[in-house]
Amino acid sequence: MLQLPVYLDYNSTTPCDPRVVQAMLPYFTQKFGNAASRSHALGWEAEEAVELAREQVARLIGAGPKEIVFTSGATEGDNLAIKGVVEMYAAKGNHVITVVTEHKAVLDTCHHLEKSGGEVTWLPVDEDGLISLADLEAAIRPETVLIAVMYANNEIGVIQPVREISAIARRHGILFFTDATQAVGKIPVDVNADGIDLMAFSAHKLYGPKGIGALYVRRKGPRARLTAQMDGGGHERGMRSGTLNVPAIVGFGKACELCAAEMETDRQRIGPLRDKLEQGLLALEGAKVNGSRHYRLPLVTNISFPGVDGDALLAGLGKNVALSSGSACTSASMEPSYVLKALGLDDDLAHSSLRLGLGRYTTAEEVEYAMGQIARTVAQLRANSPSKLA
Ligand SMILES: *Cc1c(COP(=O)(O)O)cnc(C)c1O
Repeated sequence: MLQLPVYLDYNSTTPCDPRVVQAMLPYFTQKFGNAASRSHALGWEAEEAVELAREQVARLIGAGPKEIVFTSGATEGDNLAIKGVVEMYAAKGNHVITVVTEHKAVLDTCHHLEKSGGEVTWLPVDEDGLISLADLEAAIRPETVLIAVMYANNEIGVIQPVREISAIARRHGILFFTDATQAVGKIPVDVNADGIDLMAFSAHKLYGPKGIGALYVRRKGPRARLTAQMDGGGHERGMRSGTLNVPAIVGFGKACELCAAEMETDRQRIGPLRDKLEQGLLALEGAKVNGSRHYRLPLVTNISFPGVDGDALLAGLGKNVALSSGSACTSASMEPSYVLKALGLDDDLAHSSLRLGLGRYTTAEEVEYAMGQIARTVAQLRANSPSKLA
């Protein structure tokens, strides 16, 4: 039996894998120690669990455990990386290069820098959602301290040319930070092969719990340094004070271990379901995929249905299919998606778009059902306002 709603919003969050929950449970009750307590067995036990999780997290991205700083999620990781680097390297300069399609956590952090006297270059993207490497290189100045370009976009899944970007950063002696929240656990990410110096990601996007994430901070070749944004007990090598959330960290570690073992089989099973869903929806008149279909995550698609109002479409799908129009983070406002607008879509077309995100628990039956529901709703809405179809 099909369980409703069919969940196609895996890019805004994922359910915890039951194996993750099992791993976490003892750390709420019997094993409740503070990982910073050095004087008794409960503390040692918690610390041991945290260090195992640190290894699991590090292994998924090809890092060393000492390069992992636990945070409350990717928003905090983005803030810590950008503000922390700008503050640490203030003697060199105050210029950051980023991209107009970044997640709000990066955009707003960069706006904050601008308001406090920093300089930001906002790179545009082409209609595929990709930056130009020539634009990037041309934006570099003697005062540039950080290049911040996301790995994969949360609305359209488009993957930036990370290795080429890091090569440019290295050549100019500039640190490269990437928000890889959508990529880690879904596609192979290796901080050394990819040349990444700092990288934020989050457990709840990879079948772990909410409220926990990590910032990868390179230790050598080059060593990335940053100024802490949270003062206190000096946890996490002084980079992020605060008592560690041991159960969440244990869950994050387990989730990373599972992704390392299963992301390839997940992709082989679910990738074709994404393709099938996309093909089915592209059969609707005028439907078009937003962003590069080549440089893209395997489990997400973003499609415009010209002449159809996205909010009416979501309302029409009602309680049966759970998904987002544009980004979940901005859909509370009536503004059309800034990501789609950056690709060159006009307001109406941007408003007519759905993001469909599949994941570990998506079934063929669910995809079939969602496709039917969306096709039926689009047809109904068009029957009501036929003139709007361009
Ligand atoms: C979800 C997401 C974030 C925010 O992560 P939290 O852990 O919820 O703070 C940041 N960046 C990207 C690209 C995301 O998809």
